[in-house]
Amino acid sequence: MSLSKKFRVEPGKGIDLADLDPADTSAAKSKAAAKAELASDLEALTELQRALYAEARQSLLICLQAPDAGGKDGTIRNIFTAFNPQGCHVKGFKAPTTIERGYDFLWRVHPHVPPRGGVSIFNRSHYEDVLVVRVKELAPEAVWRARYEHINAFERLIADNGTRTLKFYLHISKEEQLSRFAARLENPAKNWKISEADYEERAYWEDYRVAFEEALARCSTDIAPWFAIPADKKWYRNFVIARIVREQMEAMKIKLPEPSVDLEDIRRRYLTEVGAGVVA
Ligand code: ATP
Ligand code: MG
Repeated sequence: MSLSKKFRVEPGKGIDLADLDPADTSAAKSKAAAKAELASDLEALTELQRALYAEARQSLLICLQAPDAGGKDGTIRNIFTAFNPQGCHVKGFKAPTTIERGYDFLWRVHPHVPPRGGVSIFNRSHYEDVLVVRVKELAPEAVWRARYEHINAFERLIADNGTRTLKFYLHISKEEQLSRFAARLENPAKNWKISEADYEERAYWEDYRVAFEEALARCSTDIAPWFAIPADKKWYRNFVIARIVREQMEAMKIKLPEPSVDLEDIRRRYLTEVGAGVVA
């Protein structure tokens, strides 16, 4: 079975996150085998993005959502560095600024959707507006409830314009989160990442689970699927996401454009010229 199929949240069906073991590694034969497969998938991603850029007809949007320390940054560093920075845009979404709050919630998102031939990676995304906003009651329920439909309509709009959207929810356990926070405390190189807010958010763990379940259930569609990824083991998370992105990009049937010149003619005229120079 393809990993896309195994980890996709089936449109219209929803997901019970209690059934998804964050420490699961069942799709890998072994850690060593997964690392070897990751290496070849990353090479394939490099070629696929090169072709996407050359084709300049379709584009790819990847949204990453996770609890704090869930591995969004690590996913970007380990997988999406396979893409040429020329043609790939990474955008992080923090709490909206005063100016952004003056508009609808998708206003700040739309300019970062990839152009034809491009890739955008969202580190957090428009889904924050049905996650943190819901959990922390930053807007009335009627406001955030209407957003599932707004999001589906937005993702339909960009799909109709050639953008393939893939959304990844990185599923970690509460214990794994605490141990990643502890590592940040111990390692001076990671101290800067610690925030009081991260610890405070842990009190809302269950509320976030409910909010994620509804977002995944209501907004996993054929044109913009959600994938729920067991993410306690970083090597496994990397292996699964890279494979899914590869499968999905292969399904985009990206075609290199036909040359705009007559190759035979170019060869005849210019190779002869060089050859003639050498002989002379
Ligand atoms: P790291 O994982 O490295 O800590 P981060 O993405 O958590 O990075 P932070 O600056 O720590 O970056 O957090 C960004 C914060 O902005 C998060 O708490 C997130 O929930 C919040 N945020 C993002 N979008 C919105 C939104 N639309 N409304 C309210 N808060 C938002
Ligand atoms: Mg943070």
